[in-house]
Amino acid sequence: MSNQYVLVINSGSSSLKFAVINSVTGDAVLTGLGECFGLEDSRMSWKYQGEKTSEAIQYDGSHHQYAVERVVKLLNTLGLTSDFVAVGHRIVAGGETFKGTVQVDEKVIEEVERLAELAPLHNKANAEGMRAAMKAFPSLPQFAVFDTAFHQTMPPKAFMYALPYELYEQHKVRRYGAHGTSHYYVSREAAKMVNKPVDNSSYITVHLGNGASVSAVKNGQCVDTSMGLTPLAGLMMGTRCGDIDPSVIEFLFRKGWEKDELFEMLNKKSGFLGVSGITSDARGVLEAMDEGNARAKLAFEIFTYRVAKYITSYLASLDSLDAIVFTGGIGENSLPIRREILNNLKILGFVEDEKGNEAARFGEGGEIGSSELLGAKALVIPTNEEFVIAQQSVELLK
Ligand code: ADP
Repeated sequence: MSNQYVLVINSGSSSLKFAVINSVTGDAVLTGLGECFGLEDSRMSWKYQGEKTSEAIQYDGSHHQYAVERVVKLLNTLGLTSDFVAVGHRIVAGGETFKGTVQVDEKVIEEVERLAELAPLHNKANAEGMRAAMKAFPSLPQFAVFDTAFHQTMPPKAFMYALPYELYEQHKVRRYGAHGTSHYYVSREAAKMVNKPVDNSSYITVHLGNGASVSAVKNGQCVDTSMGLTPLAGLMMGTRCGDIDPSVIEFLFRKGWEKDELFEMLNKKSGFLGVSGITSDARGVLEAMDEGNARAKLAFEIFTYRVAKYITSYLASLDSLDAIVFTGGIGENSLPIRREILNNLKILGFVEDEKGNEAARFGEGGEIGSSELLGAKALVIPTNEEFVIAQQSVELLK
């Protein structure tokens, strides 16, 4: 292999994606996924030279740690260890410390660990991933690409909370957002699809995975996003509650809830899981809904309604709209969820293109609707955070 390949490690809240990526073309030599971490059917699978392999994960400790060690073994077995020039890591929370991609060293890892106070589900896993990879590849430069970096262009009116100003001055309490690499990527791809320069067009990008967020992207820059100080805010998610009245916390305190129990509930027992009482996985919720389960239907309705509300409110951040872009595991794959969101946007003139929505069903992407009123399209674009991470790693290497 030539010197343009990067091993990319992308730890999600319940998954770990890995890939050996050509940083010029975006082509992947090897791709793999550990998924459903914490659930019974936790598993790892990968694709190499067209061949797919899958194995169950039976492990009691940290699934992220296990997954990195398994990836290292796999790379050794496939003889791929000596061929890439860098390792690129996706990191969720960079606070105001990291405004762009940086080379990883012990100081960076420690700062990422410190910033775990902003992303409890992710940053620890990210730091574990970096440590394991530094140990496995001590002579390779490693880079950290932050999910918050793209959101650093938000104006103060979007990132400040209406709290005493001192909280920002003393503790940097503010909106940081997350999924920035994904919002960055799909906004660039959307510009290609509507055939306009990205720096002269506007998008609302909707990343719906286990974690979920919406961003308003104006002339290539993020101007608002739905996640906040932590990835708990905004949309309803797999296990996270999204926006609630902060007084719910005080109310439950007074009912005798402990602090840890409360935050565990908001982060890990809410969202699809909490409302449906069945699973955090959108597929399971949709199946239960089809079988007539009323709480699964309620979860579906809260989720899709809230996405539509955020899209509508972000029109206030833009002068015009060229496209709404759906991405992430749910956004790329779930026809009924996309359909219901577009239904909820009828007042903005959005009409579903049923054939397009069908065709985009299996993660292929495409146009799924449009609004004559706004002169905007609704698009599905498979995200490719790994490609962005590989590109930015090699750019910094140069
Ligand atoms: P993460 O935030 O962990 O990276 P992903 O972007 O991989 O998550 O998205 C995971 C979500 O995508 C899960 O809720 C899963 O159920 C959902 N998903 C994947 N495929 C489908 C599908 N065909 N229909 C509906 N939801 C799907």
